Amino acid sequence: MTAYDQNNIFAKILRGELPAHRVYEDDNALAFLDIMPRAPGHTLIIPKNPARNLLDVAPADLAHVAQVSQRIARAGMKAFAADGITVQQFNESAGGQVVFHLHVHVIPRHDGIAMKPPASVMAKPEELTEAAEKLRAALKDA
Ligand code: AMP
Repeated sequence: MTAYDQNNIFAKILRGELPAHRVYEDDNALAFLDIMPRAPGHTLIIPKNPARNLLDVAPADLAHVAQVSQRIARAGMKAFAADGITVQQFNESAGGQVVFHLHVHVIPRHDGIAMKPPASVMAKPEELTEAAEKLRAALKDA
């Protein structure tokens, strides 16, 4: 498999070289908003250790990312009064992966409302700021 690229966009976010609307962070994982959300509150959860995707991630890092994804999903239900959550995770180009640092998509959903196509509309910064605030508040209360 192709080696991990230290210059992928999410590695730059982890190093603080690119901005992100951060929702949650601990020693091993970071959660931040997708800039082209498929629905309001669309969040990406990544391990801090380098991993290209599901195929090379250390099992403990994968388990931690899953645990954080559950916390974000529960917060998303509350923060957006959602009816459900879609979780997506893509591996290699053939699997739909575009950014090659492992990430889990957690997307709050509402009955009868379709997701936008992937990477279709760049969200307004103020929308992302508000969504991140809502999620952080819901996580605090959890
Ligand atoms: P994929 O690799 O197919 O799971 O998709 C990568 C995701 O990253 C897409 O949903 C993009 O909208 C999202 N994305 C790309 N660049 C950024 C960024 N700088 N900050 C947040 N999300 C991003």
